[in-house]
Amino acid sequence: MALWSRNWNEDEDLSVSTLLEKANKNLGEGTLDPLVIFGDVAVPSGLENADPCTARQCLWPKASDGNVYIPFRISNQYCKYQQSVSQVRSPTGLPPASRFTPHDRQRDFVNIQSLGGCYSFIGRRGRSQTVSLSRRGCVFPQIVQHEMLHALGFNHEQTRSDRDQHVRILLNNVIRGQEHNFRRINTNNLGTPYDYNSVMHYGRFAFSRNNQPTIVPIPNPNVSIGRATQMSPNDILRINRLYGCSE
Ligand SMILES: [Zn+2]
Repeated sequence: MALWSRNWNEDEDLSVSTLLEKANKNLGEGTLDPLVIFGDVAVPSGLENADPCTARQCLWPKASDGNVYIPFRISNQYCKYQQSVSQVRSPTGLPPASRFTPHDRQRDFVNIQSLGGCYSFIGRRGRSQTVSLSRRGCVFPQIVQHEMLHALGFNHEQTRSDRDQHVRILLNNVIRGQEHNFRRINTNNLGTPYDYNSVMHYGRFAFSRNNQPTIVPIPNPNVSIGRATQMSPNDILRINRLYGCSE
């Protein structure tokens, strides 16, 4: 349908999934890059898939003061300008009770590097875990927040257990061999509503092979999806609920 052809709205180019697809086009060619599925989810070696990480051992621990601190180290590959643009140092919108803090001597931490694309592991993996934010294509606030939410334990919105009530996945329009990106996951939705404006929601044309939509909202196919440029109130609510912080 012409109404839905790609670039119908010029802002589409800044949707999280469009940015990820561009930045991750050559992912896997570098020897440092792990196996990546779902577009930008790194798979821990030794595991066959990246199941949702809602088990308690994958949460970041709560400190004695009630806050959740996520230590991070950031590569000096980023210039000062990019650091401020990306808000890597203090991703905006995080609830005050969970905060990224410079790595000191903590055992487990997030290691932010400019590798072959934009990707993250799901949840706390133990010791140093890479979040790749390539200088070429990943230094956007919405991408930084998206990857950090993966590291906090969240999956893509369109893979949610209840997604079939809210979106239709058109596998016929998906690039051959990329269908796995639309697999449904048995997620813990934490009592929050399905959210088209989550920073974790892919856009209408994610992994399209023919410029036709791959994700169509229901019942109204025309509502905007996957266009968040920052975390939504639901994204923040979920972090608070997953980590037992007051809302
Ligand atoms: Zn992602």
